[in-house]
Amino acid sequence: MRADRDQQPLSYAIRLPDEVQEDALRLLDTSRSVVNAALIKLWPKLDDFLQARTGPAWKHVVDLIDSPDPHGNRQWRCEAETAGRIMRGQAERKQVFALIQPMLSDGFMRPKTEQRAAGKNRKSIKEAIEALQKTLENDDTAFVTMQNVVEQACNHFLKQGTFPEKYEDMQAVPLLKVGMLTYAGDDGMAKGQSYRLSFDVQAGMASLFFRFPDEQGQWQWSKEPVTLTLPTCVVEHLKEGASMAPTLRELVKADGSRVAVLDVIVQVKKAPLADWKSVERVLGFDWGVHGLITAVVLSTNPAEPDKPVQLSRPLFVNTGGLDGHQARTRRQIDALQAARAKLAEDDPKRAAYAQEINQCWRLYEARNRELAHLAANLLLLFASVWECSLISGESLKTLKTTGRGKGVRGKWRNWRNNTTIRADIWHILRYKSHLLGMRFRSEKPRGTSHTCPRCGKEAHTYRSPRLEHRPDPVKWGRWLLCAHCGYSADRDYAASINIARLGIAFVMQMQATGKAKAFSVTEVASVKPVRYMPTGAVLLFPPQTLLGRLLQAGKIYVNGWKKSATIRSSYATPLLLRLCS
Ligand SMILES: [Zn+2]
Repeated sequence: MRADRDQQPLSYAIRLPDEVQEDALRLLDTSRSVVNAALIKLWPKLDDFLQARTGPAWKHVVDLIDSPDPHGNRQWRCEAETAGRIMRGQAERKQVFALIQPMLSDGFMRPKTEQRAAGKNRKSIKEAIEALQKTLENDDTAFVTMQNVVEQACNHFLKQGTFPEKYEDMQAVPLLKVGMLTYAGDDGMAKGQSYRLSFDVQAGMASLFFRFPDEQGQWQWSKEPVTLTLPTCVVEHLKEGASMAPTLRELVKADGSRVAVLDVIVQVKKAPLADWKSVERVLGFDWGVHGLITAVVLSTNPAEPDKPVQLSRPLFVNTGGLDGHQARTRRQIDALQAARAKLAEDDPKRAAYAQEINQCWRLYEARNRELAHLAANLLLLFASVWECSLISGESLKTLKTTGRGKGVRGKWRNWRNNTTIRADIWHILRYKSHLLGMRFRSEKPRGTSHTCPRCGKEAHTYRSPRLEHRPDPVKWGRWLLCAHCGYSADRDYAASINIARLGIAFVMQMQATGKAKAFSVTEVASVKPVRYMPTGAVLLFPPQTLLGRLLQAGKIYVNGWKKSATIRSSYATPLLLRLCS
């Protein structure tokens, strides 16, 4: 079942009822061990997955190996599909590795000195990646993968003292850590031999049968249908779109308890995109140096085409107290790992440490995922409230925090800014903006944080707006000050206006000529930036509150109280949000 171009799959996790949880988790454990045994057999054949091959991944796998533990042909196909998708992902990374391998050099690593342990030389890594990214044109995701693979190679160097020669030298067999079983290898919902699923759209219910092993390992079908209540949004989408093979998966909570959920996947029609002629409002955002994201809304100005108008005050998305929580969790992980390393190999206490370390990682990762969803949803909400038809985002291809970040808190902030969270936000924005009928563009960030949005001339950044910092521009300074027109503002705010200016220039070009053209920040019309109270407009994640509590408590405020809307986090907890107008 291949997706049409105007459709995209949306997936919703539905918790299975209590009475089948045990059976479903046992099925997931069994299939996980089969998938992992398959991955171990497939790993030496990774190169086989390098060749472009379309169609279901299970076909690829069953051509190469037989089931390590046969218990039904279609069950194996589903397991093979799961393993095959992992192998295809790894093959992609191996291809990226082949690209970067020739340039991996000792220059990437900073030698140990008396003051500092050995580490990565981020400056030379950045230069090398920038040279390579020219070959990647506008592919932001590929860039993140590349950066990620370089990091992995550097970590290998820190442990082994040499760079890996082969991808497999630094990548262990990628085993499934939590249970996951896609039913895409079976014969479909009505004829499936490992599951059957049917929807009653009128009643808003689904009925599921699935095959699982009992406690003695005997495979059998569920005797009664498992009834699932569908969320309203799923019912709405099911009325219009086709559904695809679901995935059964376990969610592991921070305390280690497990829940089996069924991901119901529906093909959803993308909302039609606004005609370029009718695009007026653009949301521009940039990845902050200090905060996570800064966003602002500009509008074209038909009366004076060279003077776009700023509509919104800035939206600062800061992570506030969460930084501290994440930093503490990282520190706890470091301490636990150090304590475990001191124990003898056969010390029984090792298992308890391992369990606690896993628990910390799960908490840490859950918070990161939640943060990405929250930030992306906030931007989409901000764009909807302001009726924007285009979101212009600073390209992912910038490494903002070069050379910064001392201590664990800085370590977390670096990681947050440079890797997965930004890529997650990007993915969520890209697919959700399509559902909302908004266009989404990636803007090249060159010069955006060192150009005055008011007069368009080059400007320096400083540690702060304070007079004693004035003589001393610093590249990563938080404050932008224009020597030509005297404009003075938070650096991230100025950069977000500049990104929005690039978006506006693109829109006007499309309207005038119908041809796409990317602009640089020095060649676009300047705006009269809106004044703002630096503290009043800051959106702060409340400090000293667990994110879970924050969502339960359900309140985030931005200044100004004229517009309000409801935002849902990935845990489907409504958040009241008021946006400044
Ligand atoms: Zn200026």
